[in-house]
Amino acid sequence: MALLQISEPGRAPAPHQHRLAAGIDLGTTNSLVATVRSGQAKVLPDAEGNYLLPSVVRYAPEGIIVGQAAREAAVEDPLNTIASVKRLMGRGVEDLKHLGSQLPYAFVDADTPVPRIRTRLGAVSAVEVSAEILRVLARRAKEALGGALDGVVITVPAYFDEAQRQATKDAARLAGLRVLRLINEPTAAAVAYGLDRAAEGVHAIYDLGGGTFDISILRLRRGVFEVMATGGDSSLGGDDLDRAIAAWMLKQAGLEQDLDPASLRRLLRDARRLKEGLTEAEALPWEIRLPDGRQFQGTLDREMLHQLVDPLISKTLSACRRTLRDAGVSPDQIQAVVLVGGSTRMPWIRTRVGEFFGKEPLVDLDPDQVVAIGAARQADVLVGNRSEEDLLLLDVIPLSLGLETMGGLVERIIPRNTTIPVARAQEFTTFKDGQTAMRIHVVQGERDLVKDCRSLAHFTLRGIPPMVAGAARILVTFAVDADGLLQVTAVEKHSGVKAQVEVKPSYGLTDREIESMLRDSLDHAQEDLHLRRLREQQVEAQRTLEALRSALAKDGDQLLDDQERNRIRAAMAQLEQQLQSASDAQTLQAATEALEKTCAFYVERRMNQSIQQAMAGRKLEELGRDL
Ligand code: ADP
Ligand code: MG
Repeated sequence: MALLQISEPGRAPAPHQHRLAAGIDLGTTNSLVATVRSGQAKVLPDAEGNYLLPSVVRYAPEGIIVGQAAREAAVEDPLNTIASVKRLMGRGVEDLKHLGSQLPYAFVDADTPVPRIRTRLGAVSAVEVSAEILRVLARRAKEALGGALDGVVITVPAYFDEAQRQATKDAARLAGLRVLRLINEPTAAAVAYGLDRAAEGVHAIYDLGGGTFDISILRLRRGVFEVMATGGDSSLGGDDLDRAIAAWMLKQAGLEQDLDPASLRRLLRDARRLKEGLTEAEALPWEIRLPDGRQFQGTLDREMLHQLVDPLISKTLSACRRTLRDAGVSPDQIQAVVLVGGSTRMPWIRTRVGEFFGKEPLVDLDPDQVVAIGAARQADVLVGNRSEEDLLLLDVIPLSLGLETMGGLVERIIPRNTTIPVARAQEFTTFKDGQTAMRIHVVQGERDLVKDCRSLAHFTLRGIPPMVAGAARILVTFAVDADGLLQVTAVEKHSGVKAQVEVKPSYGLTDREIESMLRDSLDHAQEDLHLRRLREQQVEAQRTLEALRSALAKDGDQLLDDQERNRIRAAMAQLEQQLQSASDAQTLQAATEALEKTCAFYVERRMNQSIQQAMAGRKLEELGRDL
């Protein structure tokens, strides 16, 4: 969650000296490295001419192998072959409980905060595995450029939290690289298309890779890229389509799903080839050969492929709709749509995304290469080869921040997806007469009740001068700085008494947790609304009872006769009883209003009396103090 400024202050690049820099797209499935030469950003191939380096590391008996050879060995040596390590970056042992079932490797059961994977060459952390991938890419760049790198820019998903970003930096340091900056993947994609030089406006970056889908809404304003909102699904991608095609093939062949692991692996590989081949071809033949000699054949055409891919596309478009809503923009307000990720090569995906946004997406650059190209361009600026650019990238807070109010309710102060830095203030007051302290409970989440949100911090504002309930004016300010650090301050305005606390809202929150908290809030919206209304009415009823109790104690004997007092007491008892039993807000509201009606004459008498007392020369605040 850092404010990223793409221009180092006080840097004076020597014009004659060209420094060597590279941009690295450290992907879940594939990684790439690119660099700028003669003003042109180019992705660098390996000796065989391949641009993509599969993000797979195998700890083989003969040593460490990275890339295609490692990917191919995954079936025969799964425990020592680490794929998708990006999902583990910055994650703690606790987080593994959620991720565990998807991961085929064995973890060391030691009491370390960072999980370590057991391999035949020793235990390794996610940072170490990523460093191996970075080393191979850096070597590739060094060989192509003919010298050591002065620095690199590495891309990370926009939703990466501080821990995940730090882990990425650690991996680079371990690989002996100087990180000029980490930048968000969608921003890199926008930069690759030169949108940073284009007219100001809102852009959508649609990134569908192998196993993840990310949608980001960026706004370019005064040369600044601001991440307005991000969304997506961390377990949705091209792999799902491979599985859908494989399942269809099995069904066509009249076979059961439970193949032996090697046949299943082959089937998935064939499904993937079919899918990729249909970008060019209209129809392709397929076959399944089983170890027992049985063979099945068929054909897959584009029509059928579209049917199989449609559910996946619809899911991505629902996420787009939600994210646009978070950003507060409609599809027709989007100026440009950038497609990123291998899966967006599919013509059908391009068509449907184009329909959704009502405009042709940008597809001139290879969707695999877009992110690396943007990173290379920024690396070139940062290392000092160019100085005219000045990019500022902002982040958003992933979940709403708020505080607890009476009745265990959450008052939202800063809604989720607000760009940081941000400061918002709201005024609160005391609940009881003479209340001199106020407990402030800071929470994070989308639900209406405190118990369903995540508790971030507690603190108490003391020294509030005693006043009637509702008279104190307590200003609570939430300020989130550029690093995502939240500071909450409470000040009582009459007296100036103040208290504050600092918290790190993103700390320890995984994107999976964020997702599940968001999903919960959608699932429980109705129920939460009902509960919120009820709780609010309960607070209202308690407030009325409390005010009456304190009034009766003060002047009930003096202003009321026995019969009147009993009538009020009976009405109060009735409301107290409703408070226990009422399960809807309306009933309770009616009971509260009934009590207020019963007591109206008493309230009037008290008002007349206090006016008379004031006339008699007593100071109002004196009155307030002992009311
Ligand atoms: P990641 O961002 O997860 O590293 P990539 O952006 O490299 O992933 O995308 C990999 C995915 O793209 C794979 O599922 C692959 O099958 C898919 N893909 C590549 N080319 C095509 C194509 N022509 N048609 C459909 N899918 C493709
Ligand atoms: Mg990617």
